[in-house]
Amino acid sequence: MPELPEVETIRRSLAVKLPNRTVTEITVRDTRLREPVNEERLNQLIRGRKVVSLSRRAKYLLIHFDVGSCLILHLGMSGRLLLLPAMHPFDKHDHVIFAFDNDTELRLRDPRRFGSVAAVIEAELTEHPPLRHLGPEPLSSECTAQYLFERSRKLKAPVKNFIMDQQVIVGVGNIYASESLFLAGIHPLRAAGRISYPRWQKLLGAIKQVLKAAIKQGGTTLTDFRDSDGEMGYFQVKLRVYGRAGMPCFTCGTAIRSCVVGGRSTFYCPKCQK
Ligand SMILES: [Zn+2]
Repeated sequence: MPELPEVETIRRSLAVKLPNRTVTEITVRDTRLREPVNEERLNQLIRGRKVVSLSRRAKYLLIHFDVGSCLILHLGMSGRLLLLPAMHPFDKHDHVIFAFDNDTELRLRDPRRFGSVAAVIEAELTEHPPLRHLGPEPLSSECTAQYLFERSRKLKAPVKNFIMDQQVIVGVGNIYASESLFLAGIHPLRAAGRISYPRWQKLLGAIKQVLKAAIKQGGTTLTDFRDSDGEMGYFQVKLRVYGRAGMPCFTCGTAIRSCVVGGRSTFYCPKCQK
C-alpha cells in the first residue's frame, strides 16, 4: 500500500514536471473507484486549468490549479500515478487520465480500485470530508510530543493503534509504526495513556526519523511501487523489525517476535521494547 513517504516521493517527482502545464482533456475509463468519479465536476473544475503547485496532506496528493481549484488524488491499496507520453498504450487498469498540453498524460492505474479522484474548490479543501478530521502531519511543527502526550492521557488502547490513528497523527502506516516503536524502545502493546512525556519525545523523534529516511530513499518497495515516470523504485529502507519474526534483533540478538495488533502484523524485540 502506498504510504506517506511514497506519496511524498511522487509529489516531489511530479512537482518538477507538472507546474505550468494545462489539462487539455480528462478521460474517465471507469468511474468505479472507492468513491464514484464525478466526471462532470472534474471537467468543470480541472479541464483547461493550469497546474500551479503540488502539495500533500496525509496520503492525499493535492494538485493546485490556477483560478482556485484543486485535484485530490488517493492511491488506495494498489494505485499508481504514471506520467507517460500520450501515445503510450493504455493498461486495462488506467481508470482516470489527465492529458496535458505537452502530449503527456497523468494516469491513475489502480487494479484494486480503492483509490480516489475528486475535484474541489480550493477554499473548500480543508473542509472536504476525508481531509477534515485528519490529525497533524508528523513532520510539521504543529505535531509535538506535548500534543501526543496530552491526547493520549487515560487511553488504554495500545500505543501502536494510537499512532496509526489518522485522527491523532497522519501517515504512520503499519511498517513505520513497528519500526518507530523499536527505535524508541517502546512495546507496541503498551497502553498509550501510560507513556511518559520523555518517551513521547523519543517516539515522535523516531517517527520523524523513520519517515524522513523513507522519503530520502523514495519510499519502501514492499509493494510494486513505482514513481511517476513508471520506473520501479530502486530503494529499500532498512527494516529493523518489520517482517523479521524469529530473526535476531540488530541491537541485542534476541529473536524478533510478531503478533497481531488491531488486525495488523506487528513486530518487536521483547528485550529492547518495554
Ligand atoms: Zn533487541
